[in-house]
Amino acid sequence: MTEELDPFRIAQEQLDAAAEIMHLDKQAHAILREPKQTVIVNIPVRMGDGNTKVFNGFRVLYNNARGPGKGGIRFHPKESISTVKALSAWMTWKCSLANIPFGGAKGGVICDPKSMTDAELESLSRGYMRAIGRFVGSRIDVPAPDVYTTPQIMAWMMDEYDKMTGHDEPGMITGKPVEIGGSAGRYDSTALGGMYVLRETAKRRKMNLKKAKVAIQGFGNAGKFAFEIADKLLGAKVVAVSDSAGGVYSESGLDFAKLSKAKEEMGSVKNFEGGKQISNDKLLELDVDVLIPAALENQITKSNADRIKADVVLELANGPVTPEADAILLERDVLDMPDFLVNSGGVIVSYFEWAQDMAGYFWTEEDVYKKLDKIVTTSFNDMMATQKKYSEAKKRISPRTAAYIIAVERVATAMKLRGWY
Ligand code: GLU
Repeated sequence: MTEELDPFRIAQEQLDAAAEIMHLDKQAHAILREPKQTVIVNIPVRMGDGNTKVFNGFRVLYNNARGPGKGGIRFHPKESISTVKALSAWMTWKCSLANIPFGGAKGGVICDPKSMTDAELESLSRGYMRAIGRFVGSRIDVPAPDVYTTPQIMAWMMDEYDKMTGHDEPGMITGKPVEIGGSAGRYDSTALGGMYVLRETAKRRKMNLKKAKVAIQGFGNAGKFAFEIADKLLGAKVVAVSDSAGGVYSESGLDFAKLSKAKEEMGSVKNFEGGKQISNDKLLELDVDVLIPAALENQITKSNADRIKADVVLELANGPVTPEADAILLERDVLDMPDFLVNSGGVIVSYFEWAQDMAGYFWTEEDVYKKLDKIVTTSFNDMMATQKKYSEAKKRISPRTAAYIIAVERVATAMKLRGWY
């Protein structure tokens, strides 16, 4: 991996940029540049063929000054300690910007879930929880789903934790099935939060979403629902979508129901007959109004940022735009909405889930959506106001830097009040 693309270096660089502009205290800055705790585990799993395979996993608690750690678990062949550290830092800023009472954390296991059976996945999920169990809990650090992990995986992990501790503790993990302590509205909350951001962005940019063309990279938990909501709720036209195997494009717009069916039947959107094939790289460079990277990190870099034609980039994935690319987009007046605002809907509804579990009292879907909209819209307005304030007083800053300034300030204040510096 080149220096430009090392995720944790990127996370540190983003923090440094904000720290300089906001004149962050040097001691607070030093604490915030590194994770508080890094746990590395090796998990032996008895595979279907009878042999034992060892999987490498991580759980990083970045900061817990504002509350217990919070953040998902990824199962991915390219997982690394650098990615997990970066993602745990981004979770810290995400929870702080949303002003919910959590710090930041993240977990990951290097594995290829697509090539594993359900039984193997269950053993791995339980083995991972046994390995990190002492470091998590409803008042310690609360995991959740992320790339290639599901409500079912959360259910296995919670069950393993309950067996280890001998008590029932649904608030120790979120993103669970609703039948066992999950929240109404959690499944599509990441995308829904992102669409609230899009709605607010369009208002400011005076963009008519009913006439807007949208391209989405990714068709997982985030991308798929973003497609559905952009199409049905906002009335925008989704002209391109992709997954890890490739993408599909149609000038006149793609049909969500037919495309989802094709993905289920063929395993990828790539061969969908209602459009032409397009590569992931070309999708990013389409002449659309809104580009939604909803897959993995490092998609828009200094090598393609010049060719992005979208008016608005909505970062539904974590870390899809590198700092070098961020600067180029700002220069070119492409409005780039940062990941830790755009995809905060997931963790906000995780917070609601945790609160419901702790109280043992559950809310309606309508309640969840209303409260989510309020938090996301407030964060959006806070970010835009901060961007305006700094850009007028000094040099122009990106929405991301503005969001950093708010988030870092809140964490630094919590650390100060606790006497950490
Ligand atoms: N994995 C999601 C994220 O990156 C959700 C985390 C959570 O719910 O704790 O924000």
